[in-house]
Amino acid sequence: MDIREGFEELYGTAPEGVWAAPGRVNLIGEYTDFNEGFVMPFALPHTAVAAVSRRADGVLRLHSADIEGPVVELHVDELRPLTNTSWAAYPAGVVWALRQAGHAITGADVHLSSTVPTGAGLSSSAALEVVIALALNDLYGLGLARPELARIAQRAENDFVGVPCGVMDQMASACASEGHALHLDCRDLSIRQVPFDLASLGMALLVVDTRVKHALGDGAYAERREGCEEGARQLGVSHLRDVAYEDLASSLERLPDERVRRYVRHIVSDDHRVEKIVALLDAGDVRAIGPVLTEGHISLRDDLRISCPELDLVVDTANASGALGARMTGGGFGGSAIVLAEETDVASITKAIEEAFASARFAAPRVFEAVPSPGAQRLS
Ligand code: ADP
Ligand code: MG
Repeated sequence: MDIREGFEELYGTAPEGVWAAPGRVNLIGEYTDFNEGFVMPFALPHTAVAAVSRRADGVLRLHSADIEGPVVELHVDELRPLTNTSWAAYPAGVVWALRQAGHAITGADVHLSSTVPTGAGLSSSAALEVVIALALNDLYGLGLARPELARIAQRAENDFVGVPCGVMDQMASACASEGHALHLDCRDLSIRQVPFDLASLGMALLVVDTRVKHALGDGAYAERREGCEEGARQLGVSHLRDVAYEDLASSLERLPDERVRRYVRHIVSDDHRVEKIVALLDAGDVRAIGPVLTEGHISLRDDLRISCPELDLVVDTANASGALGARMTGGGFGGSAIVLAEETDVASITKAIEEAFASARFAAPRVFEAVPSPGAQRLS
């Protein structure tokens, strides 16, 4: 059913508007966001779409077409962080974060639906937060710029839902541009749209969702984060972003702990890989980014140690089957990998990955081509 019709059926009136916000895939720059470094995501064609109307009575009604269950009814005065463990915490968290920031949100009716695969490392959660943030910004005339909306959405996820994520996912969903990757400085949220139109060059970027999520990942994010903060402390900088790539070797010599050394090497070298890829894209040398992606994977596998057998199998199989480069993307321990390939090789690489998964007795992966798509927008 169309999202407007769904809204009318639930709430008895037409919505004031309909908005969409995409999921994202990160090309390069992993775990660098909370180190105030650089990342380079782009938006997927998959989006969360929300039909929304204002309310004046403080009531917040939330419904997802994708979740079994009735409309969730809350009151804006009674929103408390970490109290709601259902999906509704994401949109409710955005209302809470806006109100915390001093914006008088007096309620809303929301009906949403999303095509972003959940739990695949493609940021279905950020899509959900950003679509609500943008809708309320427009309806309530808040006048917030896109990076501010991304910060609100991040605050919702960090403080209300209780997930310690960086700001990359929300910035990608809020600020991405069709045919471009988003070069984002996570220190000041300054952005640059870098042309990334693979189709016109005869190339494609595949997303391979391994459909697994290893329990090992729980707590690993916080552990890596703590290790990075420890590294920054020992090197006397506020964040690892402040360690210049040229000083990496001498910096590593000053770190006594092998674990911290590995984390620092990953972060500083991945920040450098972001800059390398930006330079290559600017120079039009797009095929040359392939090996840099693969280097990034090796760093995530061996230094940050957040890969898993399924992700390694995607990367190794893709590269052995003629891909230009490949790497895991997102938080790790499952989720998705990306593969850069000539368009003419896509079918054979996909087949090789599917066969390798079958031989390893892994669940069949979901493979699709990702085209850099628009960021969040009002649809009607
Ligand atoms: P990811 O962001 O990588 O997809 P997360 O665990 O961060 O994974 O977010 C997934 C959660 O977001 C889901 O468990 C659910 O609570 C919420 N969510 C995502 N899409 C929807 C949807 N269409 N309807 C309701 N909730 C959703
Ligand atoms: Mg998420």
